[in-house]
Amino acid sequence: MLPRPFTYHRPTSLDNAVALMARHVDDVSPYAGGTELLLAMKMHFADYEHLVDLKRIPDLCAIARNGDTLSIGALATHAAIATDAVIQEALPALAGLCGSIANARVRAAGTIGGNLCFAEPRADPPVLLSALDAELCLISVRGERRVAAGRFITGTLETTRAPDEILLRIEVPLKARTVRYERVVHGHRTVAGAAAVIEHDASAAPRIWLGCVATHPVALPNAETYVAANPGVLDNALTQAIASDIAPLNIADDEDAGADYRRHLAETVTIRAIAGTVQQEVRAS
Ligand SMILES: Cc1cc2nc3c(=O)[nH]c(=O)nc-3n(C[C@H](O)[C@H](O)[C@H](O)COP(=O)(O)OP(=O)(O)OC[C@H]3O[C@@H](n4cnc5c(N)ncnc54)[C@H](O)[C@@H]3O)c2cc1C
Repeated sequence: MLPRPFTYHRPTSLDNAVALMARHVDDVSPYAGGTELLLAMKMHFADYEHLVDLKRIPDLCAIARNGDTLSIGALATHAAIATDAVIQEALPALAGLCGSIANARVRAAGTIGGNLCFAEPRADPPVLLSALDAELCLISVRGERRVAAGRFITGTLETTRAPDEILLRIEVPLKARTVRYERVVHGHRTVAGAAAVIEHDASAAPRIWLGCVATHPVALPNAETYVAANPGVLDNALTQAIASDIAPLNIADDEDAGADYRRHLAETVTIRAIAGTVQQEVRAS
């Protein structure tokens, strides 16, 4: 199928892009790598009168470390993140994840911003970025605003992004901490993914997030409390804490996995992520 006809805008400045988004707010979509958007338009899941291509705006794909913050431009591709020396050194878990997403073609075109903004329930980076307590910076004619990664995605293909907002960058605090992301993939997509982040500052709470199983990533508060009180302990009580977090989640059957099997995978990847941080800490000591 072909997409319906649309007007293609190719701004070369951020001001121009923001103005275009505002002018056509009733029927406009930003366009980055196009790996999700064009497919959705071809299938007529999504139809827009105006597409604003963000790829020619300078600096939107910049990756930089500014003191204790890692800044990743929304237009940075998965391949660029996977091979960036700054990210490989400061956040190898994110580099490793982006290097394993999809295939070389999707990694070369698909962007981290497109991944977050599309809010596909099986997307991996939102899970890890939520556990890392990252912040997203968005811009519109009303100015810039920031939102926690863990509060950005609210449901299947739903975010708190206003129709005229452009995601500019993702900012990740760089602290002394152990980070692990574990996932199970079926075909091209993840059926369960979990991130565990253990702060080296013992007064800071662990962050454990699960995604790719329900409509959007969620924190696992019982698991976080258990790990905080019992650092390094991998026992049945931890499994029970994780299971009690997963039990109330609304997990549906789909073509990749039945709901019961997905619950089982969700528990498994969460335990693996926590165990991975323990292993890393043992190795480092
Ligand atoms: C075969 C295949 C396998 C995949 N496997 C995985 C996987 O294992 N794990 C995983 O996490 N993902 C996976 N993906 C998804 C992939 O990561 C996304 O397709 C990609 O990141 C989307 O980025 P894009 O730049 O192409 O977005 P686009 O398709 O250009 O845009 C997607 C959406 O985001 C919006 N958008 C894009 N950029 C911005 C911005 N800066 N500001 C505001 N809105 C914006 C667009 O308007 C659109 O609604 C897979 C995709 C494919 C096709």
